[in-house]
Amino acid sequence: MLLILLSVALVGTSAGGEFYERHLNIMLFVAITAIIIFAIPLSLTITIAGIALGLYLVFQLHNPYLKVASIVDATLFFATGIIATIAARRTMTILAQKTFLLELRDRRRVSQLAEANARLEQLARTDPLTGIANRRWMMETLERLWSRSTEFGGGAAMLMCDIDDFKNLNDRLGHAEGDRCLIKVAGIIQSNMRRERDHVARYGGEEFLVVLPEMEEQEALGVAERIRESIEAAALPNPSIRASNCITLSIGVAVQAPGDSILPEQLQRRADAALYRAKQNGRNRVELHKLGG
Ligand code: GH3
Ligand code: MG
Ligand code: MG
Repeated sequence: MLLILLSVALVGTSAGGEFYERHLNIMLFVAITAIIIFAIPLSLTITIAGIALGLYLVFQLHNPYLKVASIVDATLFFATGIIATIAARRTMTILAQKTFLLELRDRRRVSQLAEANARLEQLARTDPLTGIANRRWMMETLERLWSRSTEFGGGAAMLMCDIDDFKNLNDRLGHAEGDRCLIKVAGIIQSNMRRERDHVARYGGEEFLVVLPEMEEQEALGVAERIRESIEAAALPNPSIRASNCITLSIGVAVQAPGDSILPEQLQRRADAALYRAKQNGRNRVELHKLGG
């Protein structure tokens, strides 16, 4: 910057005559333009202003056509203009910085809000005890699945799972142990899901609903049996009520064939009816809902 200012001033002084002062004015104009355009630190801006005014004063003092008094007058006049320009530049910089900081703060707030919303959504759909999906989430999922069913051809299996004699466990081992058992059972059922599109939710106290989209009868019965066996194999204690002394699961299975237009609530009622039969037939078993049966 110093070289630019110096070269502009030197061009004028070497040209002499009317160009002498004109080029010194141009040099000041160049300095002012630089101060306005470039967002540089205040110390640098003051340095540029000082250099420009210093050069102006020194060269004007060598101007044979001007008196010292008018040189000092002109220098003070330009100094006032440059100080006003620096003040304006400073205000612009502070405003730009404030706007930038406000924008940053807004962006952070928006992303914090989005995160909080996502967390709330997640909480609203999760069962706080077991950490798996809750009934509300399952209802939404069923609605979504059934509204899409025309696209994927429909067909789904539902497994209504209910822990056997769970009240006995609570009564014998305490509610806290009952809670721990629910967490383990939820984990076991969840771990038996093999496909991305299969869903498990805690449906009620000790009831879990499994939805297996696009799954036919035999396969669904296989999944149900696998879940039942896994619970049995885990040997979670439930003292004395039955010979095994362990937690068992009864499962009612209902299957919607592709193209079979029934509502999810109907399918669920069928799974419930099959579960009721599993309980009646001795518990720790899988029963399939059969039409007319
Ligand atoms: P069944 O074999 O016929 O299903 O008998 P059950 O004892 O499992 O069924 P019942 O409906 O008589 O009892 C269910 C029990 O589940 C009663 C209730 O106290 C318990 N329960 C429900 N929710 C929770 C929970 O969040 N934690 C605990 N520890 N117990 C719960
Ligand atoms: Mg129950
Ligand atoms: Mg039960």
